[in-house]
Amino acid sequence: MAQNPDTRPPESDPRTFDIVVIGAGPVGENIAQYATEGTELTSVLIEAELVGGECSYWACMPSKALLRPVDVVETAHHLPGVTGAQLDRDALLRRRDYWVSDYNDAGQVGWAEGAGIPVIRGHGRLSGERQVTVTTAEGEVLVTARRHVVLATGSSPTVPELYAGVAAWGSRDATGVREIPARLVIIGGGVVACEAATWLRALGSRVTLLVRGDRLLDRAEPAAGEHVRQALTEAGVTVRFGAEVTECVREEVADTGLGRIHGGPVTVRLGAEELVADEILVATGRRPRLADVGLPEDAGDAPEWLIAVGDASGEAPLTHWGKYRARVIGERIAAAASGRTPQPVPEQVPVPQVVFTTPQVAWVGLTEQAARDAGHDVEAIEVPWGAASGASLLREDAHGMAKLVVDRATHRVLGASFVGPEAGELLQAATIAIVGQVPTEVLRHAVPSYPTASELWLRLLDGLPTEFRWPA
Ligand SMILES: Cc1cc2nc3c(=O)[nH]c(=O)nc-3n(C[C@H](O)[C@H](O)[C@H](O)COP(=O)(O)OP(=O)(O)OC[C@H]3O[C@@H](n4cnc5c(N)ncnc54)[C@H](O)[C@@H]3O)c2cc1C
Repeated sequence: MAQNPDTRPPESDPRTFDIVVIGAGPVGENIAQYATEGTELTSVLIEAELVGGECSYWACMPSKALLRPVDVVETAHHLPGVTGAQLDRDALLRRRDYWVSDYNDAGQVGWAEGAGIPVIRGHGRLSGERQVTVTTAEGEVLVTARRHVVLATGSSPTVPELYAGVAAWGSRDATGVREIPARLVIIGGGVVACEAATWLRALGSRVTLLVRGDRLLDRAEPAAGEHVRQALTEAGVTVRFGAEVTECVREEVADTGLGRIHGGPVTVRLGAEELVADEILVATGRRPRLADVGLPEDAGDAPEWLIAVGDASGEAPLTHWGKYRARVIGERIAAAASGRTPQPVPEQVPVPQVVFTTPQVAWVGLTEQAARDAGHDVEAIEVPWGAASGASLLREDAHGMAKLVVDRATHRVLGASFVGPEAGELLQAATIAIVGQVPTEVLRHAVPSYPTASELWLRLLDGLPTEFRWPA
């Protein structure tokens, strides 16, 4: 929207910036940087908690810091030639604390300021066109955007009403764990539930996973959830499907703080059946955090000056996806300001995702069912993880699978899934194949090294019918 020059705030106003970003998570940081890089534009970050966001302190970083040693120890137990590997609980929690910088964001603030992006600490709220009122410790500050206000406010957990009065653990408690509940019930069967079950079981909790549906990780290929169920069960987790919780009660609730047990025992009722646990973790999903940012109830289409990105946008709630979108949108803003044509965005940009359970689950693009539902005529090929010796070498009992979903009309990859040790490392090749629209006939000439897990690609491509292997 063109701006009336008469209403432009003076350039020297210290509270006026070209881009005002509410939320300094990874996505906010990226858009503040990319929208201004190589231009005269200015941006500011408004942050209510810690610069670095959920990802750095309560989500990706601490969860992966906890999971890696768990995976290494578990793998070592299945590698003849290695003895004595065991988890050191205190050292593991210290490793987590190190990776979350002891919940101190000085490093990230330093990065922002070094990049010429000031940080205002406080809660930001839209208060007019291109205007944000920030409630800081010192009072309210009005910040004005010459061009855009960006909502990079992330997401918040959705907690069903049933659990409202029991001070249940959320994902922040699970990643910030300090007291290990002897008996833990986890509600949910998605990524957070499966990952948290993995590290909390390894730390000593007796975990019961209550899943409403009939499988784990229901956005992945069905076989993926089954491999994870099998592994969790072998690790001692009780996985129950079709579990409808009817009541949840905790007599004594205590304000003990993050990662500590929040009171007395919790009773979970499933009809007539009763389960008693020392803590309950509710991991039933997240929604964009837009409730307290001053959006009008009947917002309709957002005006051109207002942009939502990252988890706040409702797109795939993944750090790498939000950061990618922030780069694309940021570069567009920077290009518009400098009269440049923005970089074109490829036709197909699929969303990759890795679940850091043992075994890992990784997929990109469409599952077979999603591709069929979208109207594609597909050829799907699946091979067991052990089909390549490089994959089997990773641990003695390696199980999992690799799957390709290919479009019959174009011979291009629509989706790929890998389940197995370090499976996440196989994913980028599939992402490149999809973005580059490489047909299977050409992919066959991308020779994987022997003996690596990447040779699963050979098995997949060789398993396709002849017409996908030789140009017509
Ligand atoms: C347990 C767990 C593990 C995860 N693991 C992974 C993983 O391994 N890989 C992956 O890709 N994704 C993972 N995710 C998802 C990932 O955390 C999010 O996709 C990512 O954090 C989104 O980044 P964001 O910048 O959009 O939001 P956030 O990281 O949530 O940042 C938003 C920021 O905005 C601030 N804010 C909100 N409202 C206001 C306001 N009104 N005023 C001022 N500041 C405000 C918040 O304080 C916060 O700092 C995980 C999520 C969870 C819960």
